[in-house]
Amino acid sequence: MQILDDITTEIVRNKDYLTELDSLVGDGDHGVNLERGFLKVRDQLPGLRGMSDIGSVLSAAGATLLSTVGGATGSLYGASLMKIGSVCRGKSEIKVQDLPEIFTVWSRTVTELGGAHAGDKTMLDVLIPATEAISQAARESTDLVYVLNECVKAAREGLESTKFMVAKKGRASYLGDRTLGHYDAGAASLCLMLESCAKTVSNLKSP
Ligand code: ADP
Ligand code: MG
Repeated sequence: MQILDDITTEIVRNKDYLTELDSLVGDGDHGVNLERGFLKVRDQLPGLRGMSDIGSVLSAAGATLLSTVGGATGSLYGASLMKIGSVCRGKSEIKVQDLPEIFTVWSRTVTELGGAHAGDKTMLDVLIPATEAISQAARESTDLVYVLNECVKAAREGLESTKFMVAKKGRASYLGDRTLGHYDAGAASLCLMLESCAKTVSNLKSP
């Protein structure tokens, strides 16, 4: 719950930045779309409080994103969160050993729905390295904060790499080479969400 609340705060704070990235290479709705969706998720949280099943909370949030965000990211983030909710069904806590499966399912959902690949300048260019890093780190350590920090490092590198890519998917692909030199908006929002998760967990562990 705290994680979803904090992600909402970060999305609202960065709405203009995300919208600006999307307007350089897309249609400029990314920040606005995500803000609308996450504010709806935040509105929903009080009704879910007391629910100990993390899976049900995530599925409910995913359904809300799916119905309110719109654009490519509405279906990609919404469906991913619903799938992650299924993976977490019945869990009252997420442990390090759950993370590789969560991220693998997330990557698979985005790949199957969107048909993009690594290097196409999409959110997958953050999600794929983040998934690899989390799987590697989870083999080395059971420390949640360490593992999430490794994930964030890879996510940031992934975001940087989108600057040197030409968009092959989504609206940005219509601009071809003109997308070079800019970050991908979906990669930026995903990186932001992962940073927010890591920060929340770190604060909860050592307030
Ligand atoms: P739209 O492009 O429909 O306006 P958004 O602006 O909300 O949707 O989101 C754009 C972002 O969605 C892109 O920056 C990219 O990261 C991501 N995206 C678009 N198409 C795909 C796809 N087929 N696979 C993965 N991610 C995609
Ligand atoms: Mg857009």
